[in-house]
Amino acid sequence: MAEAQRASEFDLIDRIRRRVLVRDDVLLGIGDDAAVLQVPTGRCLVVAADTLNAGVHFPEDTAPADIGWKALAVNLSDLAAMGAEPAWCTLSLSLPASDERWLDGFLDGFLELAHAHRVALVGGDTTRGPLSISVTVHGFVAPGRALRRDAARVGDDVWVSGTLGDAAAALAQWREGVARDAFLRARLDRPTPRIALGRALADVAHACIDVSDGLLADLAHVCRASGVGARIELDRLPWSDALRTAFDGDARHAMQAGGGDDYELCFTASTELRDEVERAARDAATPVARIGRIVEGEAPCAVRVDGSAWQPERTGFEHFT
Ligand code: ADP
Ligand code: MG
Repeated sequence: MAEAQRASEFDLIDRIRRRVLVRDDVLLGIGDDAAVLQVPTGRCLVVAADTLNAGVHFPEDTAPADIGWKALAVNLSDLAAMGAEPAWCTLSLSLPASDERWLDGFLDGFLELAHAHRVALVGGDTTRGPLSISVTVHGFVAPGRALRRDAARVGDDVWVSGTLGDAAAALAQWREGVARDAFLRARLDRPTPRIALGRALADVAHACIDVSDGLLADLAHVCRASGVGARIELDRLPWSDALRTAFDGDARHAMQAGGGDDYELCFTASTELRDEVERAARDAATPVARIGRIVEGEAPCAVRVDGSAWQPERTGFEHFT
C-alpha cells in the first residue's frame, strides 16, 4: 500500500482506539496483533457475528451514527437471544475512502450503544472497499443456561417482546418516499437489543430467537430445530401506535408477522411460568406479549380471531436491492 494511505489507515485506527471503553478483563486491546481477554472462571464464552452492507442492510441515506448503532445492535441482539451478558466486540470496517468525519459519526452511534452495555471494542480490521461493517460480539453465559432454538416444547406459550412491524413499516415508507414517520424510522435505524430481557429469561424461557428476518420466518427456525409447530394468533401481535396510524388491516398484519429488522425476542416458556415471564419482563423494563402456543407439527402458522388460517404474501425479510 502507498505510504500516505497506510498513514491514514493508522490515523483511523488511532481515532477508534482513543475512544474505546476500558474494562479490567481486556488484558490487551487495540494495538497489538491480537487482543488478550480474560474469560471469567466457570462461564461459557458466547460469540456472534453479523455484517451490514450499504444498500442491503440499511438504506444508503442512513446517517453514519445510525449505521454505527445498528451494526452493534444487530450483534448484541444475537447475544440477547442467547441470554448472554455482552463484554467485548471487534469491528471490521471496509470503507470507500478514508473519511474521518464519517468515522467519527459512525463511532458516535457505535460507541454510544457499546458504552450503554459496557462493551469494550478490543480489535478489528480497517480496509478500503465498498462500505461494509462486520462486527463480532463476545459475551458470557452460565454453563447450560444459553437460550437455544432447539428447546421449545409442545404446550409452551410463545411470547414476543416490544412491538412488531415498525422497521418494515419504515422501510415501506422509505421506498414510497412519502409520509415518513420519525418513530418508525428510529425503530429501523436504532433497534434496541433486548439484553436485559434475554438475561432475565435465562432461567425461565425454553427456546429463544431474535426477530431479524420476520416473526414467522424466525419462529420457523425454532420449530425446525425443536421438532414442533406453533400457532400464532394474529390479533395478539403487539403493535406501536405509529404502525397502527400508518398501516391498517392486512398490510399491518403482514409487517408484524413477516417484516424484518425488529430485533425483538421471540421465546417460548412453560404455561406454568407466566408470572415468572411477566416478572422477568418487569425487571428488564421490557414489555412482552403472549402471542400463541407451541403445538405438534413442524412449522408455525398464524390464525385470525375467527380461527381461520392467515397466509402472508411473504414470510421473511427481503433485502431491498
Ligand atoms: P495487523 O496488520 O497486525 O492485522 P492492523 O494494522 O490491521 O494490524 O491493526 C492494528 C491494531 O488495530 C490491531 O490491534 C487491530 O485489532 C486494531 N484495529 C484495526 N482496525 C480496527 C477497527 N476498525 N476497530 C478496532 N480495532 C481495529
Ligand atoms: Mg489487520
